[in-house]
Amino acid sequence: MHLSVFIRRLALLVSIALLSACGVDDSSPFSEEIDTSKVYRWKMVTAWPPGFPVLQEGAERFAANLEAMSNGRLKVKVFAGGELIPALQTFDAVSQGTVEMGHGSAYYWAGKVPEAQFFSTVPFGMTPRGMNAWLYHGGGLDLWREVYQPYNVIPFPLGNTGIQMGGWFNKEINSMADLQGLKMRIPGLGGKVFAKAGGNPILLAGSEVYTALERNTIDATEWIAPYHDQRLGLHRAANYYYPGWQEPGAVLELSINKRAWNLLPPDLQAIIENAAKAENLLMASEMEQKNVVALAELRQRDDINIVPFPAEVLNTLKQITEQTLADEAAQNPKFKRVHEAYKDF
Ligand code: CA
Repeated sequence: MHLSVFIRRLALLVSIALLSACGVDDSSPFSEEIDTSKVYRWKMVTAWPPGFPVLQEGAERFAANLEAMSNGRLKVKVFAGGELIPALQTFDAVSQGTVEMGHGSAYYWAGKVPEAQFFSTVPFGMTPRGMNAWLYHGGGLDLWREVYQPYNVIPFPLGNTGIQMGGWFNKEINSMADLQGLKMRIPGLGGKVFAKAGGNPILLAGSEVYTALERNTIDATEWIAPYHDQRLGLHRAANYYYPGWQEPGAVLELSINKRAWNLLPPDLQAIIENAAKAENLLMASEMEQKNVVALAELRQRDDINIVPFPAEVLNTLKQITEQTLADEAAQNPKFKRVHEAYKDF
């Protein structure tokens, strides 16, 4: 066959394929009339302090990308925790429709939705890779959306803290005996497990952590991972730094009010869905890069003792974690359902 004939036939085939594709699917978003002159002005509230590196910055970059990708049709104004509403009321504000969007992490709402914790992180649970695999491909995201359905909230993964460190201790931990009565800032499920292991979990806001450790009001604290820990100056307040068990990769959560979402045209919905996937990767990989650099500095420059917990300690904490989750599942069918899906994956 002569080349020009081949190209003409190929072009004909392609145009037939395109025409039939347009005709087949009437539900295609491109067949709907979209009023492209309409501008949607949304508010996003976050659970982070103003200017908080990576997390607040990521939320703001995400909002800027939505505006750029929608050619200015979706403008999201971002407010840090406390600027519009208190940090930990993000979920309620989105649920009630006070704002359209929020950024936080699902375990912050554990008091209201205990099973939400599995969509951020649980002790000895999945790492960021595992969570992305479960959420995007293993049914996790569908389950998460089902769990939030009664609250009129649609969740999306939007970043990950990476594997968090076990924290800063003013003494070496050689056995379970060293944890007895130890005063440690450790929130959430990790704190519950720590208490059952004989420790004394202390509730402290992030802003109080450094001073409390430096003045020996507490013996130990966990915070996030090397980069944020170093910025807080924790390496100047304690000398022993342990790899983590309590938060093996907290998924950060974009939440959207369902009514607001349903009012958006499908192209803007698709922009949000895909920009969220891009930002999920960007925030998580930025954490990873910054943590690697900070960990090397702590090790080499600051001469911090970075040693793993003894196997006996980790094994005991793991057993207590499994028992704690099983106890909760036995009392709460909703918790049980998510716990089983998580374990199965
Ligand atoms: Ca933490």
